[in-house]
Amino acid sequence: MVENETLFHKIVDGRIPSTKVYEDDYIYAFKDINPVAPFHCLIIPKIMSGLSGLDKATDDHEAILGKMMVAASKIAKEQNITNGFRTVINTGEDGGQTVSYIHMHMIAGKPLGWPPG
Ligand code: AMP
Repeated sequence: MVENETLFHKIVDGRIPSTKVYEDDYIYAFKDINPVAPFHCLIIPKIMSGLSGLDKATDDHEAILGKMMVAASKIAKEQNITNGFRTVINTGEDGGQTVSYIHMHMIAGKPLGWPPG
């Protein structure tokens, strides 16, 4: 299946530059270009495999979704984020998703308000 190409396809294969935070065989994480906190990165699977958003997830995606979560924990250790962080997956129009390639925000470095708007 040919997927609709998005900005994050171009970032993950290097056609658009990004500031790498973390990478392994399955995951790429990079600094958000418009950070909302002192630390703000986006964690994405290297292969989108139909996950334009979390609403497209099936049992086949369990492993990669787990790897995204574990990557956040690894990044926290590597970046010495010791006072907590927030992970957010915006989904669809009401969720505020603007790029149709699943991505998890990881935000840290200051106390974060709750609830979101
Ligand atoms: P969302 O609104 O959840 O879809 O998040 C998309 C995120 O991508 C936003 O936080 C943007 O700031 C971020 N973004 C857009 N373009 C770039 C880029 N070229 N490099 C890094 N982050 C980007």
